[in-house]
Amino acid sequence: MLRKTGLYFLVIVFGIVCLTPGSADALGIRLKNGRVLQGEIMDYDEDGFQFKLWTTGGVVHIAWYNLTSQEITRVNNLLNVKPVTEKLKGYRIYTNQNIAFEGFPLENTDEKLVLKNIEETDTFLKKNILKMEPIELDLLAVYTKDELYQKKYERYDLTKGSNNYKLAQYCRDVLNEYGLAEKHFLEASKLDPSLKSQVEKALLEQEKMSLNWEIQKINTLLRKESIAEARVLLEETKENFDLTNSEIKEILDEVAARIDGAEKGLKEERRKEINRKIVTDWHRVLKSLLKRTAADKRLTFSDACQYVASILRKELVFKLAKDYKISEIEVENYWEERDLETVPKKTAGYGDGSYWASYRLKRPARSDGQAWATYRQKAREIGEAKMRAAGQNRLITIDAWWNKAGTTKRTKWLEAYFAERQMKIIEKREENCTKCQGKGVVGSACDLCDRCIGGTLEVTIEYY
Ligand SMILES: [Zn+2]
Repeated sequence: MLRKTGLYFLVIVFGIVCLTPGSADALGIRLKNGRVLQGEIMDYDEDGFQFKLWTTGGVVHIAWYNLTSQEITRVNNLLNVKPVTEKLKGYRIYTNQNIAFEGFPLENTDEKLVLKNIEETDTFLKKNILKMEPIELDLLAVYTKDELYQKKYERYDLTKGSNNYKLAQYCRDVLNEYGLAEKHFLEASKLDPSLKSQVEKALLEQEKMSLNWEIQKINTLLRKESIAEARVLLEETKENFDLTNSEIKEILDEVAARIDGAEKGLKEERRKEINRKIVTDWHRVLKSLLKRTAADKRLTFSDACQYVASILRKELVFKLAKDYKISEIEVENYWEERDLETVPKKTAGYGDGSYWASYRLKRPARSDGQAWATYRQKAREIGEAKMRAAGQNRLITIDAWWNKAGTTKRTKWLEAYFAERQMKIIEKREENCTKCQGKGVVGSACDLCDRCIGGTLEVTIEYY
């Protein structure tokens, strides 16, 4: 068991840092984004620091990562403040039983060494100790807060106001026990009325310090983007602090504003993110729903068409709403707002299924005599070919086509069908059937073309 002192106790008490007025330049903190804030550092930790803005008097938390590394070094040098901790001289020992132990020596003789740390007190025989290193231990790594309080409590003559004041400061600064501190501050003021104004000031200072702890918790929540939890903690904090004090109220108002800002920022970020993703996601989900439908052997052609024309879009939107954790109406809005200038154009062709999407030989205007005559001729040929095919039982039915078409062909067909009903159409490209070149019949016998089934067309839908 290797103990590492200090890891357990990151309870380091930071002094309030007030920079002297002479170092006015030093009080400007330059952020990475170039913004310079004027004020003073109230408190800091490994994440960042509490910065009191001179412009508003509010205290903001600034994370170290908001500063360039150069600025971090400058600020650290400037602060030149060491954590206020009491250090004790102790030992780290290694024994022949492979034990490493750190602690404060309660007893140290030729024969044995008794070491205490916050968790346990152990006795080691000197003959079993292989190595003994002197180390510095944090007070709070050796004693519990209760033990420390008890020691001071016994040491001071607490019938005196000044001693209560000292004990209160100790409770506040070393133990961070604000309740005990308040008790002794009040006792000090009671026993020695001359301390009254000093106590009032100390109590306000203390309230601000404990408020800072709460604000740091709120900041941590904001960093984790837990806005709702941050709000709850703010409300709790408001109940526990004296809002009639203008300084406290101002600080809390500033925190509330910061939570609002964070929420707004998050929403904006989320909005941008969905805007960026919606088109890709829409097509991905669409494709998977179409494919699922195309592959479903229980569905007839007509079932598949009905589903694609009506329910599919609802399912698609429902799925995206669930993924994005927003309402279906919001999904529709994002979709409608997509930038048609930048989204990729999609195409889906009916191919040899164009006939089943009701694309048939085009009828020209009667007034165009030449075209009308050609049409009549073609239509007659196709009609006759169809009659012959029917007579020979060679006419392909829709269900036969659907059953024969594989999933890929069906998916494409359904995509075109969906696009025509639900998407913005850029163009419907109608081209001659590749087998009969738009004649509808093939060969010298003028047999019905089995690709377009006399429809003569192959249609591709371009959409977005
Ligand atoms: Zn054809």
